[in-house]
Amino acid sequence: MKISRLERAVDPKFQQLLLYQSYDLRSMELERKSMRLKKDLSELENRLAEARSERERQRADGKDRQKTLQLAELALRETESKLQKLERRRITNAAQTNALETEWKTLELKKIATEEECLRAMECCEKDQRELALRETEWETLTHFLELRREELKGQIVELENDQKAVRDMLDHLRKGIGKDWLAAYGTVRQTSLPPPYICPLDGLKCTGCHMHLPTNSLPSGNDSTLHRCEFCNRIIYRTNDDEREP
Ligand SMILES: [Zn+2]
Repeated sequence: MKISRLERAVDPKFQQLLLYQSYDLRSMELERKSMRLKKDLSELENRLAEARSERERQRADGKDRQKTLQLAELALRETESKLQKLERRRITNAAQTNALETEWKTLELKKIATEEECLRAMECCEKDQRELALRETEWETLTHFLELRREELKGQIVELENDQKAVRDMLDHLRKGIGKDWLAAYGTVRQTSLPPPYICPLDGLKCTGCHMHLPTNSLPSGNDSTLHRCEFCNRIIYRTNDDEREP
């Protein structure tokens, strides 16, 4: 049997079979290798995918952290700004405190001055009140006197008015008996600038209005119904009973 197999080894056909087998084995080995490689590849791709997703996650995390950073920076800037404002206020307040201190001192001084002023004013007021009280008494006395005087004058005025009315009544009564001509003559003398009286008695040949001596032919007779005038002063002149007896 063995020999036969050896013989077959040199058989060209068998030689072809053997070659085929070797190729087949090689093919199977390659297939296994291929499967292994494909498996490795698959695993690698999985790992790669994982790595990619991890990277994405990290990127996302990075973005989040950037956002957080931005927010933190913003918060920092705000805080810094607030601090600056506070600092400015602190400086301003310090200045204001100084200003207030100065104002306080000024006001303190003013208060003292004002108190002194008040004291002086109060003294003046008290003095005024004392004087006013005295004046008040004087004023009351004066007022009382003036009121009495006023009442007195009022009474005098009433009396006067009564007198005036009586006189007017009398004039009205007399006017009726005098007649228009004489009233007109009297009115004419009265309207001149002569001082009264307007009707003068004669003292002999003398007009007692202007003290001039009248010529005898111009003297009015005692019973003449027309009015006679002084030829010097134009007053109305008349004889008395004594004059008639004289010449
Ligand atoms: Zn005369």
